[in-house]
Amino acid sequence: MIKDQGTDGTHGEVLECDVCILGAGIAGLNALFAASRQRTSSCRIVLVDRQAEPAGMWHGAYDYVRLHQPHPIFTAGNIAWRGQSDRYHLAHRREVVDHLKYCYQVLKERTRLEARFGHEYLEHEDSERGAHPVTIHCRRLTDGASLTIRARHLIKAFGYNVKPMSPLEVTSDAVLSLSPDRSDIFDAQVEQSTGPVYVVGGGKTGMDTAHALIRAMPNKRVRMLIGAGTMFLNRDLSAPRGLRRHFGGATTLDAFVDVAGRFDGRNEVEVMAHFRRTYGVSLHDDCRRFLFGLMSPEENREIRRGLDEVIRDHLEDVVDGPSGPVMVLRRGGRRPIAPGSVLINATGYLAREKAPYEPYLSASANVLSIQPTSTTHFLSSQASYFLSHLFLRGDLASLPLYETDVRELHDASRDVLPAVGIAMTVHNTTLIMGRLPRWAAKENGLDPMLMLPLHRRLRSFVGLMRFVKSRPDHMAKALDTVRERFGIRLGPLAHLRPPSKITRAAS
Ligand SMILES: Cc1cc2nc3c(=O)[nH]c(=O)nc-3n(C[C@H](O)[C@H](O)[C@H](O)COP(=O)(O)OP(=O)(O)OC[C@H]3O[C@@H](n4cnc5c(N)ncnc54)[C@H](O)[C@@H]3O)c2cc1C
Repeated sequence: MIKDQGTDGTHGEVLECDVCILGAGIAGLNALFAASRQRTSSCRIVLVDRQAEPAGMWHGAYDYVRLHQPHPIFTAGNIAWRGQSDRYHLAHRREVVDHLKYCYQVLKERTRLEARFGHEYLEHEDSERGAHPVTIHCRRLTDGASLTIRARHLIKAFGYNVKPMSPLEVTSDAVLSLSPDRSDIFDAQVEQSTGPVYVVGGGKTGMDTAHALIRAMPNKRVRMLIGAGTMFLNRDLSAPRGLRRHFGGATTLDAFVDVAGRFDGRNEVEVMAHFRRTYGVSLHDDCRRFLFGLMSPEENREIRRGLDEVIRDHLEDVVDGPSGPVMVLRRGGRRPIAPGSVLINATGYLAREKAPYEPYLSASANVLSIQPTSTTHFLSSQASYFLSHLFLRGDLASLPLYETDVRELHDASRDVLPAVGIAMTVHNTTLIMGRLPRWAAKENGLDPMLMLPLHRRLRSFVGLMRFVKSRPDHMAKALDTVRERFGIRLGPLAHLRPPSKITRAAS
């Protein structure tokens, strides 16, 4: 039961519950969805987030961000969007926030939920015994008052825990350095700046920023520094429209199974080049990075046409030379940059900080943790949906999912990261599907295949089953090869307990 012992200044508030969920971004809301379906309506759930409202990173993202996938498949469980007739609409930031807040309201009505927004998680202990083995310590941000939660199950759904980017720090004062998250890039100082705008980074934020600038300021010279270049999954192929829905394009599952089947743990460059040629769009023919972003060929063409220049290198600094400011590039090059130019930091949000390792499932099987040091699926939303269901059923500990630290993998090899991300996701999803109840699989509204008719979904699914049957060890072997090549953690959790010791939840 929930015990509110009041805030007495010494002990603070104490709550007891069956499930405590930390984080109310899309990962936390999918955990809440799973809890609402795995538990009876009398089960007590406590949800904590440091922000004032649900929706996570979408509150703080740059204003012109849009979903890269059709909006229906960005949700909690199978909660449908309201008031949007075009299934392919790419929702704006405000629309995403509204939808996630709506998901929260729906789930609040379905559950016995106590939410504590404006509270920050500090730490937890797991005694492994008793009705409420996990004690979670939080504090209220306004006054530091403590909040203690005693829970049967803890789901730490911080997911990607995206934080706003700061402007790039450069030596020279002759250029203006901005972050899309901290300043309005459409204001007069950018439009009237005497030099071009340099968008630093070629991933989703870079492409979004270049696209928005090209449209808003057609007379401004916009240049991009794209490093090794990023490819995107061709959205017109993965979510074809009209009659093409029935036969055109290639499903995301087909594309991922194709990559997973080709990847042997050593040939990532070749395999991702195949992916780019067959399923991708990119500014250049040799872009190497893939961070699971989607883009249409039309958007890609518009950006390419609108750009004044694409520089295939990384910016290290801007320094003052004898004849004015100079860009210092990673490959050793230096090139002049006009005084009054604008730099926009779009170098990416992922893998910026090295965080202490936390396994996705604790040794006691009482704590589930969805975050990048123990990633099982490239989407935090999807990982949270699947793993929360299995966790609350007591079925997760007996499933040998592969897990890895995204940051460690990124530092080991940026080339191998996408191939591992794809192979691991396909491998884990096949294991999860073998264990998840059919009704829970059906309620997974995040599946990109839902944009396609049933016959195509079935065909792709049969393709996956054939692949797994004919080459059952292929993906695990490829991932094991990567682990040995780079000496990184990539494989099943070391501490998984035998299934007989797992407490099975009555659902
Ligand atoms: C610019 C950008 C665009 C993106 N676009 C897309 C897209 O179009 N489609 C897509 O699928 N993905 C996209 N992503 C990936 C995106 O990060 C996820 O889709 C998703 O919204 C992340 O949700 P999350 O729940 O994992 O993390 P977050 O949204 O970051 O939520 C984490 C929550 O945990 C809370 N929290 C963290 N620490 C604490 C603490 N100690 N105490 C209490 N609360 C805490 C935070 O306040 C936050 O509310 C994008 C990412 C970025 C950066």
